[in-house]
Amino acid sequence: MAIQRCSKCVLADDFPGIRFDEQGVCNYCHSWDRRWKHFDYQAAERELVEIFETARSKGRAYDCLVPYSGGRDSSYVLYLCKEKYGLRPLAVTFNNLFMSDYALKNIFSTVPRLGVDHVMVTFRPDQLKQFYRAMILRGGEFCSICTSGINYVTTLYQRKFKIPLVLSGVSSRVDEQSPFEVTSTHPAYVRKVLLEAGFSRQDIDALLIRRQYELPALEKVKLKLLDADFISLNVPDYLPWDNQEIQRVLEEELDWQTPDRKQDHIDCCFAPVKSFLKSKQIPGCIFKQEKYSQLIRDGQMTRAEAMSSLEQAIANEHVPPPEFSDFLQFFALSEEGVANPEGRSHLDYITKEDTEIQESVFYKMLSIPWKLVKVIRS
Ligand SMILES: [Zn+2]
Repeated sequence: MAIQRCSKCVLADDFPGIRFDEQGVCNYCHSWDRRWKHFDYQAAERELVEIFETARSKGRAYDCLVPYSGGRDSSYVLYLCKEKYGLRPLAVTFNNLFMSDYALKNIFSTVPRLGVDHVMVTFRPDQLKQFYRAMILRGGEFCSICTSGINYVTTLYQRKFKIPLVLSGVSSRVDEQSPFEVTSTHPAYVRKVLLEAGFSRQDIDALLIRRQYELPALEKVKLKLLDADFISLNVPDYLPWDNQEIQRVLEEELDWQTPDRKQDHIDCCFAPVKSFLKSKQIPGCIFKQEKYSQLIRDGQMTRAEAMSSLEQAIANEHVPPPEFSDFLQFFALSEEGVANPEGRSHLDYITKEDTEIQESVFYKMLSIPWKLVKVIRS
């Protein structure tokens, strides 16, 4: 049977949770329109500036922490923090062990140019490699380990300096917003896989440091009372994220070397392998269609362009990318080892309910006087 695709974006009829209206437009397009079509960037920027002011008024060693991959968006966030909004950022990089030369080069040119403090953390490289390996073999992917590492360094330094804000370069407007059925990097899943692979709880907990949203109610209250909690937000969700302007800043003001303007994730050597492994989990290039659909909605790509790229990607989905042999060698894996004929993924380990935040009644009750205090204060 022929695949039906949304008449506006390129999502297919087997995409999780998809519904079409009479015009053949999907519910994901409609919810994107509701949020972004008439988005008031002026109001959003005012809100952002207010958040920045509050952070600055705390007088900490750093006003904000920027998880810094050396990619385009996080570099631009760092630039905006320092140059446009006059914040004191701390840039924090997790060395995932396969950062690209471009990323490293750009980090070492951007950081001194902007004059910001920067830390790069390498976490037990031998152990980390074993974690990745176990995840590839059991979960069919490796991004969840990297995500855990980014959270590890972010949480570690946020706590160390009590930094009130964490600012990321992820965009809800143009980056893929995968539903749970497609992708999860949730710590509950990572923990389960690594436990099953035989790692000790102690070793796992060393990397999978608890995130703010995972803390029990009392600890959250304690953080708030000590003023040690933090707000985490995506800067591109508050400001127009103009690709041409970003490129200009990177090249002219930060002396960037960009390999290919069209490529995503120039910061990771194995990014093409990510898509290749993804299509073993869910055949039909489900992953690419999400990114293309976001770009169409945002007017950065036409549907015809997206369809032709998607068809090409689907036709080649079983062809390993050039980086594949390096990838296998790096993690001491065989081609058969990563074949994943059963389509293993996070879905074999957790359900959606496992990822939902369980707030206790006690915490909910405590948050009422807390909100009152905030209202009175303002
Ligand atoms: Zn659509």
